Amino acid sequence: MILVTGGAGYIGSHAVLELRRSGHPVVIFDDLKEGHRAAALGTPLVQGDLCDRDLLIDTIRRNKVEAVMHFAARCYVGESVTQPAKYIRDNARGLFELLEAMRACEVKRIVFSSTCAVYGVPARVPITEEFPRQPISPYGITKRFCEEELEMYCRAYGFAVVAPRYFNAAGADPEGRLGEWHEPETHLIPAVLRSILSGGAKPLEVFGTDYPTPDGTCIRDYVHVADLATAHRLALGVMKPGVFEPVNLGSGRGNSVLEVIAAARKVTGAEVPYLVKPRREGDPPALVGGVDKAKRWLGWTARHVDIEETVRHAWNWLAAHPRGYAS
Ligand code: UDP
Repeated sequence: MILVTGGAGYIGSHAVLELRRSGHPVVIFDDLKEGHRAAALGTPLVQGDLCDRDLLIDTIRRNKVEAVMHFAARCYVGESVTQPAKYIRDNARGLFELLEAMRACEVKRIVFSSTCAVYGVPARVPITEEFPRQPISPYGITKRFCEEELEMYCRAYGFAVVAPRYFNAAGADPEGRLGEWHEPETHLIPAVLRSILSGGAKPLEVFGTDYPTPDGTCIRDYVHVADLATAHRLALGVMKPGVFEPVNLGSGRGNSVLEVIAAARKVTGAEVPYLVKPRREGDPPALVGGVDKAKRWLGWTARHVDIEETVRHAWNWLAAHPRGYAS
């Protein structure tokens, strides 16, 4: 049995689907503050707070859990600046309580959702796993600390850990069963699509057109959420006791904000009016993942690397669920 924390959230729900598809029994642990019960697609779900160690222990024992995938976390960079306490509690302490619950139950295998935010502003792209971890936001700092907690648990207690560092998770289940729904929405692709859905009532804002990039807008590596889910399943098969393995998960290419807007225009056939705004604080000009290690060590490469296809999958779900999981 695999315990998936945050399994009712965006990336977690896609991982649950992938695990079930490949025959793994799954139990979800989610506080449903940002997750959606409907995204569990009927998978057993324990609603609870990660800081409730007794409930975690009970869930692990009752379900005979053998390994954990830990997605549950707060993940808004901007919010982490104004509300760091929430990030320290839910990300750093949340992981600590989970690790202690696992230790009490002698479960020592964990795939931990990390992020390219641990790198901060890289000196160059593509970014490889050896780059220094110099996060610039409280969110990134809590994720780096989580990685450090895990490194200590590997060394001292023999935990087996894989820490995928995601670039920009994007898209939706190609079969349209799951999608991305956050309130408020700050991520580019759903923000573009939701502005189209609003018929121009909520115009898109482009944060900065004066970056040192070919078209002046930021470049990001949009990695398809279904590919992320596959990588997590593969990680379960390669983890080793006492070893902490970080691995970048990216599409291997970068797209600018204007390229994403152009893809959305093509997919939806709609115009995308936008307002040019100043740069958003803390946005590095370009983030693209070096994915050689994922290929070599995990046997994984992203399959959906065409930005138009990724945007199309996001659009298919959103157009069918204009109010998200409440639709
Ligand atoms: N972005 C934008 N308008 C939006 C949302 C995002 O111009 O409404 C830009 C943002 O500045 C960044 C890129 O799109 O350069 C991706 O942002 P997102 O929040 O999706 O991901 P991040 O890279 O910050 O994790």
